[in-house]
Amino acid sequence: MKRIAYFAGSFDPFTIGHQSIVDRAMGLFDLIVIGVGVNGAKRSRQSPQERVEAIRALYAQEPRVAVESYEGLTVEAARRAGAQYLLRGVRSVADFEYERQLADINRNISSLESVLLLALPEYGSVSSSMVRELESYGVDVSRFLPIRNWQSVNR
Ligand code: ADP
Repeated sequence: MKRIAYFAGSFDPFTIGHQSIVDRAMGLFDLIVIGVGVNGAKRSRQSPQERVEAIRALYAQEPRVAVESYEGLTVEAARRAGAQYLLRGVRSVADFEYERQLADINRNISSLESVLLLALPEYGSVSSSMVRELESYGVDVSRFLPIRNWQSVNR
């Protein structure tokens, strides 16, 4: 049986921290499906479809990574993708408590196991919200993004 992990998030934008989780998890799973959650409430940097396209371009040469957007419950999207695992990253104690609760609830409602990878120290402070905030002040955020010229490629 293929081991499939579902990596759900907002990915607004997809950072080098997210990329690091996917790359490190590649050795653990046969397929990683990156699910871009569509959450109407958030003020977005890119539309979900733009995020999907950008992440797809990043993994164009990697058949073991698929990218899609989804609405609704993560566990249902994961089930539709045939995943047995939810993949998440943990940067800090604050992340840990949130991820612990999420993993607990998700196991409860779906029996999907969560696999949490600890962030590499060099990515422990990289977050999408920090990137969005810096960008709103005109700071060049390309060092936090896996694709150079992310803005010009995707806008
Ligand atoms: P969400 O909106 O669900 O929190 P995010 O896009 O912010 O989604 O993050 C998706 C997952 O990636 C989460 O598990 C988050 O903890 C993890 N993550 C985010 N940034 C990093 C990073 N720099 N290093 C490791 N994991 C990260």
